[in-house]
Amino acid sequence: MPDDAPPGRDARHLALPGIGAAGQQRIAAASALLIGVGGIGCAAASYLASSGVGRLVLSDFDTVDATNLGRQTLYGPGDIGRRKVDVAAERLEQINPDIDISCVAERLTGDALEAAVADVDIVLDGCDNFATRFAVNEACVATGTCLVSGAAIRLEGQLAVFGPDFSTAPCYRCLYEEADESLENCAGNGVLAPVPGVIGTMMAVEALKFIAGLPSPRGRLLLYDAADAAFRSVGVSKKNHCPTCGQH
Ligand SMILES: [Zn+2]
Repeated sequence: MPDDAPPGRDARHLALPGIGAAGQQRIAAASALLIGVGGIGCAAASYLASSGVGRLVLSDFDTVDATNLGRQTLYGPGDIGRRKVDVAAERLEQINPDIDISCVAERLTGDALEAAVADVDIVLDGCDNFATRFAVNEACVATGTCLVSGAAIRLEGQLAVFGPDFSTAPCYRCLYEEADESLENCAGNGVLAPVPGVIGTMMAVEALKFIAGLPSPRGRLLLYDAADAAFRSVGVSKKNHCPTCGQH
């Protein structure tokens, strides 16, 4: 950009110590894979796009239905029945036409998942089930890719950042060795609409920090209790016998 160009969308990042021109260049050159564009993914993707992350890959096999509209803010009533990735890509292109957005309208598994993870700088997992979370975590450990993981249900949310160095730091499976059914999907449990938005927004914060090179602690799980309007964090230790990152 020439020096006399008027201030643009990145002006506040350029003014921010720790980001600046170098950090914003890293953001523009970065790529992120979003697993799920539901309530969490919509919020995270909006801020990654508005912040100018150069390439976003959206992965979701689902279509928009009316029960999504309260919390999945990239969709409106006219989108019901359409694939979420297609609608999300259109909205994100409106937010920032200068970035590259691609869509995977299927459940990524196995080699395809690992290839998709290997192809990006960071993965944001906002999916709603443990089978996918474990598979995404495995792919991130196998490829040495940073993973930002978030979940929200009822009035509660949680967030953690893992990797990209898994030799001494824990992975998601060190936190949850088995599925925790109390965190399973919000269909039967209910969720207050903005709670996934809080978590998705914080995932975007962590992703941008990682991309720009700002330090961020590992081995911590941040817990949001909306009922008490409180955050707390707990330590997550690396497990030597972790089925994913441990010494076998
Ligand atoms: Zn582990």
